[in-house]
Amino acid sequence: MPKTLIVGEIQGGSLRESTLELVALARGLGGDVVSVLLGSGIGGTAEELSNKGGGKVLAADHAGLEQYSADGYASVIRQAIEQESPDLILIGNTPSGWDVAPKLAAALDAGIITDVFKIEEAGGDLLFTRRLFNGKFDGQFRVAGTPKIATVQPGAINAYEGSDAGSVEALSAAPESRTKFLELRTAAAGGHDLTKAEIIVSGGRGLGKPENFEAVLKPLVEALGAQMGASRPVVDAGWLPHEYQVGSSGQVVQPKLYIAVGISGAIQHLVGMKNSNFIIAINKDPDAPIFEVADMGAAVDLFELVPALAKAVAAAKG
Ligand SMILES: Cc1cc2nc3c(=O)[nH]c(=O)nc-3n(C[C@H](O)[C@H](O)[C@H](O)COP(=O)(O)OP(=O)(O)OC[C@H]3O[C@@H](n4cnc5c(N)ncnc54)[C@H](O)[C@@H]3O)c2cc1C
Repeated sequence: MPKTLIVGEIQGGSLRESTLELVALARGLGGDVVSVLLGSGIGGTAEELSNKGGGKVLAADHAGLEQYSADGYASVIRQAIEQESPDLILIGNTPSGWDVAPKLAAALDAGIITDVFKIEEAGGDLLFTRRLFNGKFDGQFRVAGTPKIATVQPGAINAYEGSDAGSVEALSAAPESRTKFLELRTAAAGGHDLTKAEIIVSGGRGLGKPENFEAVLKPLVEALGAQMGASRPVVDAGWLPHEYQVGSSGQVVQPKLYIAVGISGAIQHLVGMKNSNFIIAINKDPDAPIFEVADMGAAVDLFELVPALAKAVAAAKG
């Protein structure tokens, strides 16, 4: 059974849900669990993690850790690794996780696997599972050497809900950073905040071209008084800004009604919308995975159904 070190994350002063998902994964493996948490003024959060299954929490509380920096955080996490000698290091597959995990792997000359959603023991070794080819296949991998580093897909595992008392220990590590934090820019208030929307109509690559968001999707969005969302390829192609993106690297939403139009339902998209109260999927491929989470679905051409639906809703509303 591996000894696991969890790299916890704080966002907006609170423990990220993904950290408790790492706790569930680590505890499921049955070995010792220790955590490291970095930031400034984090005593309360470290206490919380230790009481929510994080085991012994090494709290690196330092003014220089108030803002994330790849080399500053990596230098402190390395000290925790050297102190604890874990077999496995779990990091969230979040923007800072993507950044710091390969840096650690290079510094430690350790094997790394990213974006996994399952880890199990098999024949005295660990087997890591991740999606391949946009979710069309699952691949199982072994990682050579010790320690092994894995980044874990947020939302793929249920967060640990136990309340086991652990402990908090100060990690007196000063970050060694060659970068200087200047400012944090966040999206302007009143922007496209999908997290508060009651109805979201999201479009995917199935819409074909950017003009169709205006011509085909928008009439339905307006008829329903909804907000428009999108899948990642739409944003990557520059058809809509990033704040429209729903999913693991976009916004996580929970509206009363979510309508997915021309979206296949890759795990990274589902993570962002599967907890919506009611999901309608419109996709011409009856085998598209989006139908697995949909409460209602139409396996038809969106270009026929969506304009008709927009008209019908507008007529019903008078
Ligand atoms: C680290 C990482 C993070 C990611 N984060 C996100 C994320 O946050 N959000 C996200 O969405 N994705 C994310 N992805 C990408 C994700 O894996 C998928 O590639 C993406 O969700 C697919 O988008 P899509 O469904 O629009 O496109 P596709 O998978 O290409 O699906 C298009 C769908 O449209 C249907 N269609 C085509 N024409 C029509 C028609 N005329 N009528 C009806 N249906 C039609 C097709 O049948 C198909 O199912 C991420 C990937 C990685 C690796």
